[in-house]
Amino acid sequence: MSRFAYVNGRYLPFRDARVHVEDRGCQFSDAVYEVCEVRGGRLIDERRHLARLNRSLDQMRIPMPMSPRALGVVLREVVAKNRIRYGLVYLQISRGVARRDLAFPSPSVAPTIVATARPLNRVRNEALAATGVAVVSMPDNRWGRVDIKSVGLLPNVLARQAAIDRGAHEAWFVDSEGRVTEGASANAFIVTADGNLITRHADHAILQGITRAVVFEVLKAQGLTVEERAFTLAEAYAAREAFVTSATQIVMPVVTIDGHTVGDGKPGPVATALRREFHRFAEAA
Ligand code: PLP
Repeated sequence: MSRFAYVNGRYLPFRDARVHVEDRGCQFSDAVYEVCEVRGGRLIDERRHLARLNRSLDQMRIPMPMSPRALGVVLREVVAKNRIRYGLVYLQISRGVARRDLAFPSPSVAPTIVATARPLNRVRNEALAATGVAVVSMPDNRWGRVDIKSVGLLPNVLARQAAIDRGAHEAWFVDSEGRVTEGASANAFIVTADGNLITRHADHAILQGITRAVVFEVLKAQGLTVEERAFTLAEAYAAREAFVTSATQIVMPVVTIDGHTVGDGKPGPVATALRREFHRFAEAA
């Protein structure tokens, strides 16, 4: 089946979809992005993802190139043209094309907008969720503003590959004080031996995940509380349960951390229930 991508106002066959060599996204990672889950052909939590995109652009001082409503139309069109029922849609906005120079182009140039979509392997994802995944920890060597969803992901790329090389599914970043920040592409949660659910508070050291926010709503509806604080790797090793959250994995149980078995080594009841309930609370449009 042919694939299509959106590039600056045009829906193009995938092989013809290109950005300029002097796009600032390519040269400086001077770009932001969003990833939304697509389920039943509908966008999940579009409103929240576009609000976060707006915030990222604002922090980077890139003007919002079109209204969230118009961006929503583009995303839906890319999903429809690629006939995605279950998958993801990716949106990237860079500061635009200009002669290579660190300073912002003056006068400013039009931002570059790119959107793509692809299917996800549902059977594989469900199989992974049924068994749970392994994570390995590594020093968090990212910049100090990872709350901005910029495409500057080199530390995440290297961490993910190091995790795969060690037979794991995901990397957990650990700050200089031995506290877990988040995964290479997901937020990290634990349930302590006495039943407290903990995830790091949303400061500049984590991306404020949309899935994380929806999980908070599921918990609230169930009368459960979450403690937002940094937790140590030692607490994670001793946890009863652990899991990660992201738009493409939803709630993914973690069953080993650095080779330490978490709880009884199987997906726990909290993660399982959150995964089951998630889409009753997420917005589909
Ligand atoms: N943290 C990082 C570093 C990520 O890259 C992601 C998603 O890509 C997340 C957390 C989870 O965010 P969301 O739930 O919005 O997908």
